[in-house]
Amino acid sequence: MAGFTVAIVGRPNVGKSTFFNRMLEQRKAIVDDVSGVTRDRQYGVADWNGKTFNVIDTGGFVANSDDVFETEIRKQVKIAMQEANLLIFMCDVTTGITDLDSEVADLLRRSSKPVFLVVNKVDNNERRLEATEFYGLGFEHVFFLSSMTGSGTGELLDDVVAKITPEFDEAVAKSDLPKIAIIGQPNVGKSSLLNALVGEERNIVSDIAGTTRDTIHTHYNLFQKDFILIDTAGLRRKTKVNEDLEFYSVIRAIKAMDEADVCMLLLDAEKGITAQDLNIYSLAARKGKGLVVIVNKWDLIKEKQTNTARDYTKILKERLAPFNDVPIIFISVTEKQRIFQAIESALQVFENRTRKIQTSKLNEVMLKAIEKFNPPVVRGTPIRIKYVTQLPTHTPAFAFFCNLPDDVKPPYRNYLENQIRSNYDFTGVPIKIFFRKK
Ligand code: GDP
Ligand code: GDP
Repeated sequence: MAGFTVAIVGRPNVGKSTFFNRMLEQRKAIVDDVSGVTRDRQYGVADWNGKTFNVIDTGGFVANSDDVFETEIRKQVKIAMQEANLLIFMCDVTTGITDLDSEVADLLRRSSKPVFLVVNKVDNNERRLEATEFYGLGFEHVFFLSSMTGSGTGELLDDVVAKITPEFDEAVAKSDLPKIAIIGQPNVGKSSLLNALVGEERNIVSDIAGTTRDTIHTHYNLFQKDFILIDTAGLRRKTKVNEDLEFYSVIRAIKAMDEADVCMLLLDAEKGITAQDLNIYSLAARKGKGLVVIVNKWDLIKEKQTNTARDYTKILKERLAPFNDVPIIFISVTEKQRIFQAIESALQVFENRTRKIQTSKLNEVMLKAIEKFNPPVVRGTPIRIKYVTQLPTHTPAFAFFCNLPDDVKPPYRNYLENQIRSNYDFTGVPIKIFFRKK
């Protein structure tokens, strides 16, 4: 998986979110017509011509006044320049160049990373003429497009993927040891957890420099188990100025995620799971990473009745659906409760992720399940699944061979996934299912 990250920066309402959705070819994000409303930051993985890259929309922030707003945008642009591999600077042809655009342009011109200036809302030829004023901002790469209609987006994507050089595609840290990343929002207790582990100096075998200067890989040996913990540099410092910025922590989390086999997603027990956590969680799942959900600060939940953890788990699993076959561990770093169980669980997920099932056994189990509940007939012809095999992929994937692969609908796909999960331990591991013509 490429660790290439594209950040979209620009004023509110220029169409960043619309463009983001088009890049990801899905319509899940909320597009709001009101300037400066709070909106969750969006991130995802885009595929173009067989290359994948991370896309981050810097859109989400609160603006109570113009000043705050400008400071906030400036801050985000700076972080994007530091952390992303390519910047998309989006402007709006209908407003022309605004003062804020010029200011952002001044910052971006100093960037050592490639900057693509995208003039959006160029829906027709007339606007195309108006758009030429944006050459005045002095960028080498200028694109005119309409996120609404999609015109012009293909050329842009071609040029984006052209910047993904082979070094980004290379597997990170060529080690067979399990690589575990600690991720989560600011203040959930990531540093505390790391320090609780790092504090045990005797467990550290060695520090391996990350493939990028932003992550630190530490080789541990605990309970006769070897593993690598990935953390972002900021977590270890006493003053975590940057790490507290939400945007910064997101972009770093994505980097750590790209280098990891398993992600430990930390939550704050009192705050519960937020929309941002869910975004990060589903991104990790999409990337085929193993997942463990860690509910930290469990000490703060008072009046623990016997059912508290069970009820909490139930609610959490509902929010995590559809992929919710994950371990959920309740810990308290300050009281040193279940910290090692969290690590053990991550190592178990790592094992699950490498699980390979013998084809004969798999067919025995799955053909029986299929016989018990056949795929519904779609166009008069029954769907016959003849054979299933686990693919020799890095993350678990299964191919079901049948006569009408395109007619198998998601509910039946989910049935098959549940059958696999109930027969084999893939806890914490996203699995892919394909239907192929026999
Ligand atoms: P963001 O705040 O920068 O993320 O902007 P949004 O994506 O929320 O878009 C702001 C408004 O511009 C919405 O009403 C969109 O429908 C509209 N918009 C976005 N892209 C285009 C486009 O290519 N053409 C036109 N005409 N409108 C667009
Ligand atoms: P990070 O931003 O995710 O790295 O979070 P920190 O490790 O800096 O922790 C944020 C705050 O939460 C600090 O004040 C910690 O002392 C506190 N904290 C961390 N773990 C726990 C815990 O298990 N229980 C309680 N009560 N506080 C915790």
